Amino acid sequence: MLRDKARNRETLARTGFLALWFVAGALLLCILSTLQMLYLDVPISLRAYFFPFMLGGLSGLVVAAWEFRLREYSRRLEESERRFRRLYQNTPVMLHSIDPQGRLINVSNFWLQTMGYRREEVIGRHLTEFYSDKSRRFAEETVFPEFFRAGFVKDIPYQMVKKTGEVIHVLLSAVAEYDDNGKIVRSLAVVIDVTERKQAEREIQKLAYYDTLTGLPNRTLFHDRLGQALAQARREERKVGVLFLDLDRFKAINDTLGHAAGDILLKYIARRLLGCVRQSDTVARLGGDEFVVILPGVHTERDLTEFSKKILETISKPVRLGEKKFFTTASIGISIFPDDAKAVETLIRNADIAMYSAKDLGKNTFSFFSADMNEKVVEKMGLETRLRDAIRRGEFFLTYQPQMDIETGAISGMEVLLRWQHPEAGTVSPATFIRVAEETGLIIPIGEWVLRTACEQAVQWHKAGLPRLRMGVNISSRQFNQPDFIDMVDRVLQQTGYDPRFLELELTEGIVMENVPETIMTLTDLKVRGIHLAIDDFGTGYSSLSYLKHFPFDRLKIAQEFVRDISIDPEDAAIVEAITAMACSLGLQVVAEGVERKEQLDFLRARRCHEMQGFYFAHPLKAPEMTGMLRGGLSQKNSLLH
Ligand code: C2E
Ligand code: MG
Ligand code: MG
Repeated sequence: MLRDKARNRETLARTGFLALWFVAGALLLCILSTLQMLYLDVPISLRAYFFPFMLGGLSGLVVAAWEFRLREYSRRLEESERRFRRLYQNTPVMLHSIDPQGRLINVSNFWLQTMGYRREEVIGRHLTEFYSDKSRRFAEETVFPEFFRAGFVKDIPYQMVKKTGEVIHVLLSAVAEYDDNGKIVRSLAVVIDVTERKQAEREIQKLAYYDTLTGLPNRTLFHDRLGQALAQARREERKVGVLFLDLDRFKAINDTLGHAAGDILLKYIARRLLGCVRQSDTVARLGGDEFVVILPGVHTERDLTEFSKKILETISKPVRLGEKKFFTTASIGISIFPDDAKAVETLIRNADIAMYSAKDLGKNTFSFFSADMNEKVVEKMGLETRLRDAIRRGEFFLTYQPQMDIETGAISGMEVLLRWQHPEAGTVSPATFIRVAEETGLIIPIGEWVLRTACEQAVQWHKAGLPRLRMGVNISSRQFNQPDFIDMVDRVLQQTGYDPRFLELELTEGIVMENVPETIMTLTDLKVRGIHLAIDDFGTGYSSLSYLKHFPFDRLKIAQEFVRDISIDPEDAAIVEAITAMACSLGLQVVAEGVERKEQLDFLRARRCHEMQGFYFAHPLKAPEMTGMLRGGLSQKNSLLH
């Protein structure tokens, strides 16, 4: 309303003004005509006034129109300026204008809003007062000179400081405004707040280079850091130590206490490792329970020995998880640049090899890499290739070792033992290759082949009218932990038609203790099928008999290490005696392994051990020999008892 009134008033004024020009022009010409007539003595007639009056009017009109256009032009100019100012103020972008001295002459409302200031607090102040110290220096030393030279700058990264003290990241682009003499009079800048984008970039960077659980550098960043450490060590002719650390029995903790507990433990370990290192060292997590430490500038093996001891000690301190307190240990492998390797990959691989050697030494210890470790690995790799070939060429065969009932002297069962007919080395015992087969996963196809072949053989014996005997098949940890292990057993039993009640699976203590709840479930699943279960090599692991009562085992096989010297070593004798007594009281059948002499048998019989297996009774036999034994050898062996 007010604006309309003002506009009307303006139009009225302008029309009046026009008329005034018109009248003024006409009057001026009338005066001129009168003067002309008076001086030139021309008689004055009314008509004589007509032309000057018209001419005056016309020129008045021209001047008035000119004036009108001029006014219209300036009005539009004002209007556009007003619009620009409105746009400048209200656009949701940070805009600012500065004078050649860098003082703020205008800022957009969004600028004020973002920075948290009022207009009067900023106008007249130097722009760099709103910058961080670093950005201020950068602006004064680099950006301003460039701006005055080129007349513009684009996407300059600055840090601006809000009134609250909070720092924001911005990108600034500015363009200069010149006067007629080509001098810069002011500049207009567009500022984009990229704090969130920066934050997102940082998050992405974090995800790409850091382990989300522990916050430690991940494998990628570790490789990068090791590369840098090696480059620097090369320049300075120094050494770099790489420690490869793997927690012992972490899987068991994870399985028994749950993954959340496992995660907490890993965080603890990460924190403890960080507590052991210097600022210049790097601790990284490669995944799972594997950590690595880079120690640039180490001097001697002694340094690394001390350091490793310190780490082992710190890690072995108890960890509290709620009410519970538990212990963990680690095995550490160490390789040194440039002694053990010069390239990143080899250095890591060698530390990893050394870590496995530390595990072999009994865990909770460290081991320096050595050339013969490498040889062993190469040998292992060769063995792996040869094993693959052996599967392809069908070089495996089975032997069957009879077990004897100590009471009656009759064959009570047998154990299936794998053999490899090597083209050059002859018959090879599984002791030399089972571990590699486990590590490489080759045990899965080999194990299935063993079970199938043994079942087929037993079915053949049965069809031939030979007595049906319990048959024990060794199962390795890797096999047992396969998710489809039970399916595999079912499949083989179904395909071969073997009666599960005559099958016994032998598992070592290690397998049983690995993942207790799942093991119990799998064992129960097997048990309901009528399959027998035996715990093999008892006494070599860490399980206690009282613990074993939770598992549905039928038989316990005393490890041959204890049986070997029972007749001469009172300690072994006591152990075997105790195991037998306790196993009997738990309702388990006891089999003694590795019985080679009569004295051992006598000892076992006196302690009421149920069965025995060993060279004294029979060596592992090939299928045809076993057939012979099943046919008639039984009665001969009875004489062994007496
Ligand atoms: P194991 O299950 O404890 O088998 C008993 C081992 O003791 C066999 O060694 C057998 O030949 C040996 N042995 C039997 N009686 C005597 C004796 O009186 N004196 C001595 N000194 N040794 C005796 P083998 O056949 O070399 O097998 C070694 C290990 O390899 C086995 O120990 C078992 O753990 C593993 N193994 C054998 N066959 C298989 C298989 O098919 N699958 C898996 N996963 N492991 C197997
Ligand atoms: Mg066995
Ligand atoms: Mg055994």
